[in-house]
Amino acid sequence: MTKIFGAGFLCEVNTFSPFPVTETNFRECYYNESGNHGAQPHYYAQPLITMKQLIEAEQWQYVESLCTGAQPGGKIEERVYLKFRDKILSDLKLQMPVNAVFLYLHGAMVSEKCDDCEGDIIKRVRDIVGPKVFIGVEFDPHTHLTEKMIENANALVFIKEYPHTDYNERAKDLFRIMKGYLKKTLSPVTAVVDCLMIGMYATTLEPMKSFNTKIKHIEQATPDVLSISVIHGFPWGDVADVGTKILVITNNNYELAKSLASSLATELRSLKGKTMPKAYTSKKALQKARADTGEKPVVLADFSDNTGLGARGDSTFLLREVLNQRLTSVALSPLYDPDVIKQATEAGVDSTIDIKLGGKSKYSGTPLNLKNVVISKIVPKLTATFAGSTVNYGQAVTLHYQGIDIVVNNNRCQTFSTECFSKMGIDPHKRKILIVKSSEHFRHSFEKISNTILIVTTPGTISLDFSQIPYTKLTRRVYPIYQEKNTELEHSQHRMQV
Ligand SMILES: [Zn+2]
Repeated sequence: MTKIFGAGFLCEVNTFSPFPVTETNFRECYYNESGNHGAQPHYYAQPLITMKQLIEAEQWQYVESLCTGAQPGGKIEERVYLKFRDKILSDLKLQMPVNAVFLYLHGAMVSEKCDDCEGDIIKRVRDIVGPKVFIGVEFDPHTHLTEKMIENANALVFIKEYPHTDYNERAKDLFRIMKGYLKKTLSPVTAVVDCLMIGMYATTLEPMKSFNTKIKHIEQATPDVLSISVIHGFPWGDVADVGTKILVITNNNYELAKSLASSLATELRSLKGKTMPKAYTSKKALQKARADTGEKPVVLADFSDNTGLGARGDSTFLLREVLNQRLTSVALSPLYDPDVIKQATEAGVDSTIDIKLGGKSKYSGTPLNLKNVVISKIVPKLTATFAGSTVNYGQAVTLHYQGIDIVVNNNRCQTFSTECFSKMGIDPHKRKILIVKSSEHFRHSFEKISNTILIVTTPGTISLDFSQIPYTKLTRRVYPIYQEKNTELEHSQHRMQV
C-alpha cells in the first residue's frame, strides 16, 4: 500500500529582531503531535488536513508527525530547532519505508546556528528516504529559496496569494504532482530564476494582482506546466539567499521551465519598486483619516509593529499620536502586553485602573501612562478566523480610555480579522478609525468593511526602506541595494528530476 508521511514546521524569522523564538512560542501558537487537528483547525494545520483527505481518497495510507508553528520573532533557539527537526526525522525513520513525504514549511526559518533550516530539514529527509522517494514541500512565499531545498526535493509549491488565503489550493497542486509521480505519469522538473531584487508583493493590489492572474492563466493554458511560483522572499532575514525568485515546474520539459521562469522573472523585475505599499507617518495617516468623510471606518495598519513580521506588537508610536491629536471614535486591536492583562484580569470587568501600556521592548517606544482606564470586557481565549482557519490571541481585555477602545492580549499575533474587534465588544462598523497591527493579512477581512486603508510606518522593528537594512551575508547584486539599470538574470539554480 502506498504510504505517505506528513509534517509541518513553520516560523518566519526576522533575524534583526532581538527576541529569540522559544519552545513556549511554538507551544502557545500551535503544537500538535497527534495528527488530529480538531473541528476548528489552526492556520498551520490546514494544508496537512487537505493533503490527508486527498491521500485517503486514493485509499493510500497517510501518517503524520509533528505539526507546529510559532509567530514570527528573532532566530529560533538552536535547542528548539534541533528538538523539533529531530522529532520529525525520527518519526520518519520509524515509518520507513514510505513512498512520499509531504512537508509544510515556512521557508524563512533561521535558527541560532542555521541560516537555511528548511534546506537542512529537506536534505536530512532525503538522506533517510533515498533518491527515489518523492519529497514535496508547500511553502509560504516569504521564503529564502536555496539550492539545498531545490536539490533535495522533487516539487516545491509556494502559496500564491498575499494575504495567504490559498494554502489549500496549493496543497491540491502539490498532491496532483505527487500522485502523477507515484503513478509514473509525471516527471516533475524545476527551473528557478533569481529576480535579483528585494520587495513586498501584495497580490490583492496592482500590479501584482494582474501578474498573479497571468501566472494562473499560464498554468491552466500551457500543457506540461505543472506549477509556477513567485517566491516573494522575506526582506528582514540576513541570509545569503534573501530576495525574489521565480520557480517553474514542468512535466519533464526543462527547456520550457527555464524559458518560462526567465521571461516571468524579467517581467517581475521590470516592476521593481512598483509593488511596494504607499506608507504614511502616524501624523499624516491620522490627518488623512480625520479628513475622510466616508461613512465606513478608515483602517490604519501599523506595518512596522506587525508581529507577523517579527515585531513585538506593543509599540506605542501610533497610539500616542492618536492621544496627541485628541481623537475619539478610535479602536485598536490587539496590542501585546501581558503585564496589563494580568493587572486587568485581577481587577475585573467594570473596574478602573491606572496602567503603563505597551512600549516595553527595544523598538516599541515608551509606555503610555494612562489613568482611569475602564475595563469593559475580558475574554479568556480570543480566537479569530482567517480564510477558513483559526488563529489564537490568548487572553484579551478591552480597555476604554477617553473615547478610545484598546484591545490588549497576551499571545503575540497580528490582526487577521474584524473579529479582533467584534468579539471584544467593539462594533468595527461604528468606529471612525480602526488601528490594526498587520501589514497585509488584515486586508482579507477589513477590505469588506472599509473603503480606505492606510499603511503606517512608525519607528518600530520593521522598516520598508530595504536599502537601509544592514545585510551582512548578501553577495548577489540585488535591488534596491544595487540599482543597476540593466541586469541580466541568470538561471542561478535548477534541478532536473526524471
Ligand atoms: Zn508569508
